[in-house]
Amino acid sequence: MKDGLIVVAGGGGFIGGHLVASLRQQGYTRIRSVDVKPLDDWYQRFDDVDSRQLDLRRIDDCDRAVDGASEVFNLAADMGGMGFIENNKALCMLSVLINTHLLMTSREAGVEKYFFASSACVYAADKQVTTHLDAGLREEDAYPAMPEDGYGWEKLFSERMCRHYREDFGMHTRMARYHNIYGPYGTWDGGREKAPAAICRKVIQAKLSGKHEIEIWGDGEQTRSFTYIDDCLEGTQRLMHSDVIEPLNVGSDQMVSINQLVDIVEKIAGVKLQRKYNLSAPKGVRGRNSNNARIQELLGWAPSIRLEVGMEKTYAWIHDEIERGAVSKAY
Ligand code: NAD
Repeated sequence: MKDGLIVVAGGGGFIGGHLVASLRQQGYTRIRSVDVKPLDDWYQRFDDVDSRQLDLRRIDDCDRAVDGASEVFNLAADMGGMGFIENNKALCMLSVLINTHLLMTSREAGVEKYFFASSACVYAADKQVTTHLDAGLREEDAYPAMPEDGYGWEKLFSERMCRHYREDFGMHTRMARYHNIYGPYGTWDGGREKAPAAICRKVIQAKLSGKHEIEIWGDGEQTRSFTYIDDCLEGTQRLMHSDVIEPLNVGSDQMVSINQLVDIVEKIAGVKLQRKYNLSAPKGVRGRNSNNARIQELLGWAPSIRLEVGMEKTYAWIHDEIERGAVSKAY
């Protein structure tokens, strides 16, 4: 199976770039990586990988992308953190074209397995109104549907499209609901970054400038869980090679408040900052956590990397990027 052609859509992005790196390391020899970004802006690029700049909203580009493929991982989407998805709902929903055209062309090309990156943003808003979500969101909590406006609706619709491609056409589709993936080689500036990277950047900048202040979106008491990239890759590949046909949470169940996340980064940096709360900034749902009973039961595995460990690596990478004067490579 390691000589079948594997296509990673969104390979110039954060998770896609790591997936390509991981596949190479495991000895896969035929990998095609596709992204709309110019090749120079990809987070990770390898000479022995067929890397192509294509716009996967276009069906003819999807044809080129999946030609000859045995497996397709769809990690391409127009997305970002809360600040981006609250203000760009139409753009987020247009990613429906990517998944739809990739499914259509993958079916025609005889692709054996197809993976779709869904999100915890599919979960119904009324199940996320308190900070005490210790039990986490179970897979069935996506219905009755009331997902995140824009981005979440697109993910929920695309999940169903994958399901119906399996039911109606016999395609082997797999779906993961990622919960806040973070790590090195991702967006940390420019408006699309998510909380872990944004907080690292703000703490580093405060430390370097000597202005010991940090702006926090909301009151900082909203809760989330954050999943380190290595757990995301492990879950993605385990799920892809399993017989699990329903969407599964791929997320850490170590729930923290945003204030606790800032505590962790301050400790890594060795600073204490004065916190300024911006109550009118985008903040998303009040509480969110992953319930991992189903993934544990079906895959015998669940994410386990502690936030303190993953954040240390993420902080170190962003610190190096800022020190060398790099510009964050968002779409
Ligand atoms: P990312 O923005 O780093 O990567 C997505 C990539 O898709 C980008 O490189 C972008 O250029 C590419 N892309 C966008 N439009 C495209 C198009 N028309 N044609 C080709 N490529 C296009 O984001 P990521 O964090 O790596 O996310 C990967 C997938 O996982 C996305 O589907 C995202 O919605 C999903 N997801 C991510 C998280 C997270 O916390 N990072 C959480 C839930 C779901």
